[in-house]
Amino acid sequence: MEKTIWLGHAAFEMTLNNKKTLIDPRLTGNPKAPLKSADMSDVDYILVTHDHADHGLNDALKIAKRTNATFVSISELSKYASSKGVKNTVGMNIGGVMEADGLNFIMTYAVHSSRLGNPVGFVIKSARSSVYHPGNNALFGDMSIIGRLYHPRVFIVPLVVTTPWVQ
Ligand SMILES: [Zn+2]
Repeated sequence: MEKTIWLGHAAFEMTLNNKKTLIDPRLTGNPKAPLKSADMSDVDYILVTHDHADHGLNDALKIAKRTNATFVSISELSKYASSKGVKNTVGMNIGGVMEADGLNFIMTYAVHSSRLGNPVGFVIKSARSSVYHPGNNALFGDMSIIGRLYHPRVFIVPLVVTTPWVQ
């Protein structure tokens, strides 16, 4: 079964190809989170788009260490995770693709800021479905390329778009 569950704020749990992937799993201090990070189990991959606290880096580190999930992020952030004791890390760069378990994890551009490395988004593709989580982002035109290339069935939109002058 393929499904995407919102865990509050920018946190999502996706099951694609029978693998559980978390993205930006801020569960601590997240009033909408249905469970605590200590209760999260059977996690295969954790994607972190950038290191701002509201996107769950601390919870991601805790869950990855406890479950041995693979922590996937921009290179600088994965090195940080490794230095904090996460065993399985994959550092990528924008435009890179990690193939694993019949899934493609594609790292995409994000217009935002971060302390360690560039902020990013991800497209996660299985043979049957695909999800685009753009991380924290501003609206930019090249999102249309991501749509044309990867045809995401689900587009998660944690964007701030302030365009009162557009009609
Ligand atoms: Zn941010």
